[in-house]
Amino acid sequence: MTLDAKIPQGPLAEKWSKHKFNLKLVNPANKRKYNVIVVGTGLAGASAAASLAELGYNVTAFCFQDSPRRAHSIAAQGGINAAKNYRNDGDSVYRLFYDTIKGGDYRSREGNVYRLAEVSVNIIDQCVAQGVPFAREYGGLLDNRSFGGAQVSRTFYARGQTGQQLLLGAYSALNRQIHAGKVKLYTRHEMLDLVVIDGHAKGIVTRNLKTGEIDTFAGHAVLLATGGYSNVFYLSTNAAGSNVTAAWRAHKRGAYFANPCYTQIHPTCIPVTGTHQSKLTLMSESLRNDGRVWAPKTVEMAKKLQRGEIKANDVREEDRDYFLERKYPSFGNLVPRDVASRNAKEMVDEGRGVGGSGIAVFLDFKEAIQRLGRDTVEAKYGNLFDMYYQITDEDPYTQPMRIYPAVHYTMGGLWVDYNLMTNVPGLYALGECNFSDHGANRLGASALMQGLADGYFVIPYTLGDYLATIGPKPVDAKHPAFEQTKQEVVKHVNELLALNGTRTVNDYHRELGHIMWEYCGMARSAEGLQKAKGLIRELRADFWKNAKVIGENEEFNASLERAGRVADFLELGELMVDDALMRAESCGGHFRVESQTPEGEALRNDDEFAFVAAWEFTGENQPEVLHKEELVFENVHLTQRSYK
Ligand SMILES: Cc1cc2nc3c(=O)[nH]c(=O)nc-3n(C[C@H](O)[C@H](O)[C@H](O)COP(=O)(O)OP(=O)(O)OC[C@H]3O[C@@H](n4cnc5c(N)ncnc54)[C@H](O)[C@@H]3O)c2cc1C
Repeated sequence: MTLDAKIPQGPLAEKWSKHKFNLKLVNPANKRKYNVIVVGTGLAGASAAASLAELGYNVTAFCFQDSPRRAHSIAAQGGINAAKNYRNDGDSVYRLFYDTIKGGDYRSREGNVYRLAEVSVNIIDQCVAQGVPFAREYGGLLDNRSFGGAQVSRTFYARGQTGQQLLLGAYSALNRQIHAGKVKLYTRHEMLDLVVIDGHAKGIVTRNLKTGEIDTFAGHAVLLATGGYSNVFYLSTNAAGSNVTAAWRAHKRGAYFANPCYTQIHPTCIPVTGTHQSKLTLMSESLRNDGRVWAPKTVEMAKKLQRGEIKANDVREEDRDYFLERKYPSFGNLVPRDVASRNAKEMVDEGRGVGGSGIAVFLDFKEAIQRLGRDTVEAKYGNLFDMYYQITDEDPYTQPMRIYPAVHYTMGGLWVDYNLMTNVPGLYALGECNFSDHGANRLGASALMQGLADGYFVIPYTLGDYLATIGPKPVDAKHPAFEQTKQEVVKHVNELLALNGTRTVNDYHRELGHIMWEYCGMARSAEGLQKAKGLIRELRADFWKNAKVIGENEEFNASLERAGRVADFLELGELMVDDALMRAESCGGHFRVESQTPEGEALRNDDEFAFVAAWEFTGENQPEVLHKEELVFENVHLTQRSYK
């Protein structure tokens, strides 16, 4: 099958406008004859559900939490990018486009990224109109700060709680439509399968997480906005409940999974302290606006710090290595995440890491506090500093934070075309759930922008084109495909409940995460990946023999929920390893040790790998088939990425 991304022809800046004009419309009276299923009510799903209902469609929305307000989006701290150029510092739609393409190491589509930059400005207007309390300057304009990979300030923020405030805005818009009767919301429902009829997505199967009831829902189209899959690594900065199940089950029904191995490792997280942990905590990238990253210049000094013989503040200025400022004078501490992460790892590998474990570097605010005063630093980052203090019992106002990279975001996801439709007609993917516009590395503050662009400004146009084509004839909810898919879900649930071994599901998850981090994490080699593949296969076989799932279906059963998600992660993990093995180049967050420049930077291979890898499921335990979507660059010149 040839993958057609449906990117419109013509000049970059005109593609989206022309496309919008060419898309078919559904007239207002017909819109109410269509039912649209939206799975996920985080930023992408809530914005899509609200916007589609506002247009007149009937929407049925689902989330597994008890409220849309608990979606993982609420965790977003630092901000959201937009090319408003309020600062007059040289920003523009084209610059945001260019930074994003370059930041993603030239592995994303020009057309998509330009559209993202173009609608970024509308997102801010929409959110302000909803009442999102963005930070303001003394003159009243919205304030901005800087994020990695950019030399302008274009990140809009609401203290360190931007995701929460944006989600409250989207949630209000959603509630308005629930009240108007245009959105029917099902909380505590987990989508466990996709119903496909004659090759088109026509519904879903869900499990009511409180009662165990397994049900089917029919719709003219199904939109997945179910978030990312970083938790395949067990330890990540994602909410503990984030999972891949909806996307994975759709994949097994025919939707291609694109660039699964593209994972973002965030440089500034609170380091791991032991095996008792079930999640990691992010210290927002915004902190790199003022914080300076350093490690001691010598291994001896590092050893003393590790043993607690000296404190960070005892290390003299001349004995500190501000390694990002030294190696990348143009961008300094604000290099993109992949570059900052790799450099922190390098320090640790050289034996210059700090903290008890030696697996951390410092993020220091001493100079910022001297320059700006403690009050200003507190006003900008207070909640993040409090969080750090509460977790580590160390005061970041008086001593530097200890930080280390951790898994944070997945650029891979379901393959979609320019209309956000997967290769299964009628099935769409939005937000972090799709393989998105970020290429091999997402720039900070761009996920919120993409999720809201998809929900507020792209899908309301593109969905109508498909719906107008299929017509408003009601979907036959009695079609045998609904009952058949439901019975397959029941069988899967029963198989999980029958697991009566000795190991907890959590134990398997932890071991999978360890394998993924060790061999498919920040640095990967062909040898390590081959090994990981074997280990994951063994672990998966063992899971289906020796895992233990307790309780019944007809109750709130966290053990069962988790087992289903971990079973899917075990399958996804293997695909990620296959993808990483196939991509024998380094790009962005995907660093193959065999492919690096003499300076140790990621070395791409554009001749062989300038494509999107879209994987097709062909059956249980069968190798997946790779489809390549060639990436065409007409506006930017592919160069070795440099932030020096
Ligand atoms: C700690 C942290 C800080 C971040 N800070 C920033 C930032 O400052 N700026 C930025 O741009 N990005 C940031 N990000 C990334 C950003 O928060 C996410 O990429 C984004 O919020 C994802 O939104 P989403 O709507 O796609 O998915 P989510 O918010 O994850 O929502 C997923 C939804 O899908 C539902 N769901 C999932 N599976 C199922 C299923 N099977 N059945 C039913 N429902 C299901 C869930 O209930 C939920 O409603 C941060 C990420 C983390 C982890």
